Amino acid sequence: MVIVGAGFAGLAACEAVESSPVDVCVVERHNFNTFQPLLYQMATAGLNPGDIAHPALAAAAVVAGGGPTGVELAGTLAERRRMELETLYRDLDPDAASVVLVERRERLLLGFDERLLAYARSVLEARGVRVRLGETVAEVTPMSVRLASGEVVHASAVVWAAGVGEGELTSAVERPKTHGRLDVGPDLRLVGEDRVFAAGDMAAATAATAAAPATAAANGRGVTLPQLAQPAIQEGRHVGRQIAAMLSGLPTSSFVYKDKGIMATIGRRAAVAELPRGIRLRGTLAWIAWLGLHLVLLLGVRNRAAVLLNWAWRYVSWRRVPKVIAGA
Ligand SMILES: Cc1cc2nc3c(=O)[nH]c(=O)nc-3n(C[C@H](O)[C@H](O)[C@H](O)COP(=O)(O)OP(=O)(O)OC[C@H]3O[C@@H](n4cnc5c(N)ncnc54)[C@H](O)[C@@H]3O)c2cc1C
Repeated sequence: MVIVGAGFAGLAACEAVESSPVDVCVVERHNFNTFQPLLYQMATAGLNPGDIAHPALAAAAVVAGGGPTGVELAGTLAERRRMELETLYRDLDPDAASVVLVERRERLLLGFDERLLAYARSVLEARGVRVRLGETVAEVTPMSVRLASGEVVHASAVVWAAGVGEGELTSAVERPKTHGRLDVGPDLRLVGEDRVFAAGDMAAATAATAAAPATAAANGRGVTLPQLAQPAIQEGRHVGRQIAAMLSGLPTSSFVYKDKGIMATIGRRAAVAELPRGIRLRGTLAWIAWLGLHLVLLLGVRNRAAVLLNWAWRYVSWRRVPKVIAGA
């Protein structure tokens, strides 16, 4: 069994065939797994790069886009502006630095309940983020962003949080695709292939409407699961189990997605979570749930301990890890 990519999907597939009589070869261009949901904390000096990377083969502002990544990033940048500019960079006028969050829809956090959205927006604005809904980024230049309306927003840093494009590996595979993702059959085999499966971000896996998360997008073949960690993990696990079944001479089965909910943090003691059975959390409780879940999902005991320690230290001291500006 050859697995290309040691991301969430690849590692889940690997684990699922652990007890099967199969030789597994994982091909990964890096020698580590990156825990992408916490990338933005590394980018904002909240965590060290090593805290969210795990050796792959051992185990496995300004802001464009108002989804979970954009909201999390904007909230963190605003928090840093508020808490750190005045103490660390006293020569700078804190009011001269601002964070603008641009979203082309009329709402943030697509898929979340309206009440949670209102809460998220009010927390962002209270922390100094200018939220611009219904605006599309038309052009990014080195020092500004031009909106489709013609307005120019001056920005010395632009963060793209409006989704990922088609990956190079996906581009190289000449097979039917939906929005840049490979079409797969119900058991996640590539359409027209007997022995090749696709899982995670690169696969346009569909789910029954009732089981799909609120962020899933409908298309002609059903509801395509979003590019998130849970679909990748569950799809990867399913692929591993299908290969184990095939080795035992059993037929493959259809993938069934189990919705475990969605959550996004906005900053210190502020988050929103939409869980199964209509459970909605916001504020400190949602924030603790977000922290706990990310700790559990992070690979490696050392990483978990280091992240927990960093978070705890930051929480009590308001300090972040040393900031190194490289390549200036
Ligand atoms: C900034 C950011 C924040 C996110 N936040 C969240 C969040 O809060 N919650 C959430 O649920 N999801 C979040 N996501 C999405 C989530 O990380 C992805 O859905 C998930 O990583 C998909 O898993 P995957 O295994 O399909 O792909 P990946 O995790 O991207 O793994 C693919 C692997 O394949 C390797 N690879 C690629 N091409 C090749 C090649 N040609 N040869 C060999 N190896 C190759 C890559 O190096 C990579 O390690 C976030 C994503 C980003 C970018």
